[in-house]
Formats: sequence, structure tokens, C-alpha cells
Amino acid sequence: MDCLFCKIIAGDIPSSKIYEDEWVYAFADIDPKAPFHAIIVPKEHIVSAAEITAENSRLIAKIYEAVAKIAKAEKLEKGFRVVNNCGEDGGQTVGHIHFHLLARRNLAWPPD
Ligand code: 5GP
Ligand code: ZN
Repeated sequence: MDCLFCKIIAGDIPSSKIYEDEWVYAFADIDPKAPFHAIIVPKEHIVSAAEITAENSRLIAKIYEAVAKIAKAEKLEKGFRVVNNCGEDGGQTVGHIHFHLLARRNLAWPPD
């Protein structure tokens, strides 16, 4: 399968690992939009949030368990934002579901 994030998970494309467990892999975004910007993905290839079902939704819980662990390890006590872009209008550019974890700047939204 020609999927960029599957290749990153497999180690075929190098990435800067932030967190890994049985279900989840997290790595530094190549083009960070905040001083801290991790991409968190399930190891299983799921295209987008539009493909979540009763069979695979446990992986989304695993993503958020990873969010909390990373936030603790990185000492993000001031807060953070998690973003999931879905589909063309949602701004999704890689067809493997992923969650942006952004922190270390004021991310208040909507902007003034
Ligand atoms: P999307 O726009 O689909 O929500 O987010 C895709 C993200 O993947 C972007 O923030 C982009 O910078 C990041 N990205 C794209 N290609 C690579 C890559 O080869 N390595 C890493 N580490 N991040 C990438
Ligand atoms: Zn994939």
C-alpha cells in the first residue's frame, strides 16, 4: 500500500519518534505549526475519521491515551490542542488518520 504514514510506522521512511506502543505511533511533524507539533497515528491503516466504526473505534481511545502520556512526558501543563483533519474540505493531505498535538504557544481558537 502506498501510504506515507504506513511507511513511517514501518521505519521505511525515517521519522523523529516521540511515542510508541502496541497500537499507536507518534512522531514530530516535518513542518511544525507550533513549537511542539506531534503527529499521532494508529498503526492500523485507517483512511480518516469518516472510516471509524464500532470495530475500530478502540484505536481512537488509544490515540487519546497516547495524547495524555505525551502531554505528561513533555510537561505540557499549560495545555495543548488536538486536531484531526478529515477529507478534502477538512484539509487532510495524508490518507492515514492522524491527530496533530500542538503546544507551547497560545493556541486559543477561534482567533480574535
Ligand atoms: P494533514 O494536513 O493531513 O492534517 O497533516 C499532514 C501532516 O503531515 C502535515 O502537518 C505535514 O507537515 C506532515 N507530514 C507530511 N509529510 C511528512 C513526512 O514525510 N514526515 C513527517 N514527519 N511529517 C510529514
Ligand atoms: Zn497507512
